[in-house]
Amino acid sequence: MLYQSENIQADWVKQGIVELIFNAKGSINKLDTKTVAMLSEALTVLEATPGLKGVILRSEKPAFIVGADITEFLSLFDAPEEELSQWLHFSNQIFSRLEDLPVPTVSAINGYALGGGCECVLATDFRIASPDLRIGLPETKLGIMPGFGGSVRLPRLIGVDNALEIITAGKDVDAQTALQNGLIQAIVPLDSLKESAISLIEQAIEGKIDWKAARHPKTAPLRLTELEHKMSFSVAKGMVIKVAGPHYPAPITAVKTIEKAAFLNRDEALALETENFVKLTRTDVAKALVGIFLNDQYVKNITKKRHAELPKQAAVLGAGIMGGGISYQSALKGIPVVMKDINPKSLELGMNEALSLLQKRQEKGRMSAVDMAKTLASIQPTLNYASVSDADVVVEAVVENPKVKATVLAETEALLADNAILASNTSTIPISLLAKSLKRPENFCGMHFFNPVHRMPLVEIIKGEKTSEETINRIVSYASKMGKTPIIVNDCPGFFVNRVLFPYFAGFSLLLRDGADFIAVDKVMEKVFGWPMGPAYLLDVVGIDTANHAQAVMAQGFPDRMGAIERDTIALLYEQQRYGQKNNHGFYNYSIDKRGKKQKSVDVQIQTLIQQNAGKTQEFSQDAIIARMMIPMINEVIRCLDEGIIASPAEADIALVYGLGFPPFRGGVFRYLDTVGLAQFVTDAQQYASLGPLYQIPESLKQKAQRNETYYP
Ligand code: NAD
Repeated sequence: MLYQSENIQADWVKQGIVELIFNAKGSINKLDTKTVAMLSEALTVLEATPGLKGVILRSEKPAFIVGADITEFLSLFDAPEEELSQWLHFSNQIFSRLEDLPVPTVSAINGYALGGGCECVLATDFRIASPDLRIGLPETKLGIMPGFGGSVRLPRLIGVDNALEIITAGKDVDAQTALQNGLIQAIVPLDSLKESAISLIEQAIEGKIDWKAARHPKTAPLRLTELEHKMSFSVAKGMVIKVAGPHYPAPITAVKTIEKAAFLNRDEALALETENFVKLTRTDVAKALVGIFLNDQYVKNITKKRHAELPKQAAVLGAGIMGGGISYQSALKGIPVVMKDINPKSLELGMNEALSLLQKRQEKGRMSAVDMAKTLASIQPTLNYASVSDADVVVEAVVENPKVKATVLAETEALLADNAILASNTSTIPISLLAKSLKRPENFCGMHFFNPVHRMPLVEIIKGEKTSEETINRIVSYASKMGKTPIIVNDCPGFFVNRVLFPYFAGFSLLLRDGADFIAVDKVMEKVFGWPMGPAYLLDVVGIDTANHAQAVMAQGFPDRMGAIERDTIALLYEQQRYGQKNNHGFYNYSIDKRGKKQKSVDVQIQTLIQQNAGKTQEFSQDAIIARMMIPMINEVIRCLDEGIIASPAEADIALVYGLGFPPFRGGVFRYLDTVGLAQFVTDAQQYASLGPLYQIPESLKQKAQRNETYYP
């Protein structure tokens, strides 16, 4: 053995040829700080090895290298600029040493080569891969950019346009695409990957393949004419600004870095990459996006630990918007489902919706016609109760009426086997209340999906007073099998997500009562704060009738702070039968455009009506709008943590981002508070205390602020 460490080994594989093997002890292969240091040691050995004629990089694990170790990111980001620059310089020197070895080099890649893993193989002269390859640079999705030479080598290897497409979208590509754009030179079966690499190196050693010519472009400036340069980068900048928007600086920084580096040699370009990488690590956006990634991992771990038996047969009660969506999603992920309704029209609508979603998948090439037919056949529409009796999990999604739900749940329970599980998709009704109608409340919990089910990643799993751990585990596993992110919460009206959403709507109603223009509020909350929809638009999408009803449930549950609001606009619109998108009239009017999409337009009449209801008009600053909208939500999130409705800041932030579309670049309420500073938030929020109980800052937050603490380490 020439070199042996915890994660990397190097040894002769044939005369003159050394293989450098990534084989992390007890883990997947990552390029963490430790492994980078080991790579340096291994190279030191290779540089001093007499008789070396060629080097192969490969992995002993099912994936080549999955990337850097993201758990190290936040502490690296917190390191002083100088320290981080030095570390990047040190790491880049290692990859450049690999690139500069005086012998030909090839990477034999299996599975994932992402981020640092991709950058590592870019430093070798050739890359061949097994058909399961996924290669790319996801850094911009985390608010940063490639930092181990990816922005330098990728455009020099596959051209500016191809490289920008991968880097700015943070995407990875499959083996075929990588072959087409020149990122790899061959696709070979996994079991002959090593042999093919040896053969390629032998040909390079014999001079049959010009390895120096393969290496040269990576170390020289990009060969672009002035016109090509101008075209590529101006198009890319325009696209990136449009797609990423103003809140995400990483993709545009990457474009500008590559643009500027086009005329530089490798080492100068690497220095520029480091400079801009470090700048991005100083942004709150990078911390928020990395934070979401880590929180997502945290939640996945909880899900993994709760792994339980999956249902063989599911049933969904109600084939409406939600029931139809849940049935589709279950069938899509391989769990057959009986879809029961009392109305044949609903069943027809539910099946048509499933068909149209499946057709779209097929058109996009994500599903074969055979699989599409099989999936559709695994949804069994029925009007007959008895058909659900074989199900081991039943999700109830009938109308939001406690009496109807209680009857439907009790009737269903009587049909099911003793160990079958019942879950309700109610949005607001406490689970322990619904459980009262059941004989086996331990087998019952909440399973709250979001609309549209096929697109929204979150499912709240609600634990009632009597719900057993086994029931939670089985529903968590079912939700995860459906491709969703389950978050377990304790029971209360609205659970977590709706409980914190309604105070936000209440903040909106108070703003309108005080004379704000709803269009101006929508604009600020979308463009400045970053929500995908402003509150008026969101209410139209949710449905004003639904919101009005849910608001009443919340008022009953939390009368002290969520009681009816004087001159409430939601109630006003409800009285006017302006139910939002469902009847094309809400805060806005809706019509279908040429492409079949709903477009909103302003209705002056309703604007006037809302103003008359308020009795005055008043302009509010952007800061005041944001404060008045967000403080009630933030306070309620803190109360939920204090009361144990949600278990941790990580789960709360994931629920907010995945369930409500809380702006990812802000990371969630807890990350936002840490970013603003708890003391600063308390000082700012105190100015609004006179607006009522929703604006009273919870004691726990005040104390934490006084102790100068944060929610995340
Ligand atoms: P919907 O009105 O579209 O569908 C309800 C369906 O239930 C109808 O097809 C109706 O015919 C059927 N139904 C009524 N009584 C029934 C019975 N006894 N047995 C079988 N089917 C029966 O409503 P929806 O929006 O799909 O909401 C359903 C549930 O999901 C509600 O509890 C709602 O609060 C909850 N939810 C809705 C949303 C949303 O955005 N729409 C989001 C999350 C949760």
